[in-house]
Amino acid sequence: MKLILLGPPGAGKGTQAVRLSEKHGIPQLSTGDMLRAAVQAGTPVGLKAKAVMDTGGLVSDDIVVGIVADRIEEKDAARGFILDGFPRTVAQAAALDQMLEQKGHRLDAVIEFVVDESILLSRIEKRAAETLAAGGKVRPDDNAEALKARLDAYRVQTAPLSDYYRDSGDLRAVDAMKSIDEVTAEIDKTLNGSA
Ligand code: AMP
Repeated sequence: MKLILLGPPGAGKGTQAVRLSEKHGIPQLSTGDMLRAAVQAGTPVGLKAKAVMDTGGLVSDDIVVGIVADRIEEKDAARGFILDGFPRTVAQAAALDQMLEQKGHRLDAVIEFVVDESILLSRIEKRAAETLAAGGKVRPDDNAEALKARLDAYRVQTAPLSDYYRDSGDLRAVDAMKSIDEVTAEIDKTLNGSA
């Protein structure tokens, strides 16, 4: 199964991706996690990406598409994957279409997390507080200022993907204002309906 999770920061994509990954035995491919790992490791990609990420902008399409192209070639992705945070631009979506076509694959569904922007800041603040309480390190972009830039990037560059995938017939909207378990149930239902 090949899925894309589409939605703004704080919509709950990561939480649901973990559940879907366990349920279907396919990896969660989060470009944000991959980029943070590159920053941590101090790789050339990480060095280029860090400043953009910290201020809430988008890393260049070339870099992100390259990372995903390499990652989906790995063995654990052969049976499918859950893309979390990719694509984020129409150019990335087009590049993904090409990658899948070359392999003779196609997407099963694009799950759009529909959520009211007004609750995103409190969700991000909650995530930061929980991370701190667990002794972890808070993401440098989990603050009000960077969130504003991340939402601007989402509105301008990523939101057009709803139309892109609506046109291809792959889009399934879920109400991401509901509780975590309710969203999981809604996703299960929509995937069963499309199976
Ligand atoms: P996330 O963990 O998905 O919230 O991503 C954190 C940050 O990583 C984003 O704000 C961007 O700076 C960068 N990033 C993650 N995925 C992408 C992508 N597909 N395209 C461009 N930048 C990305």
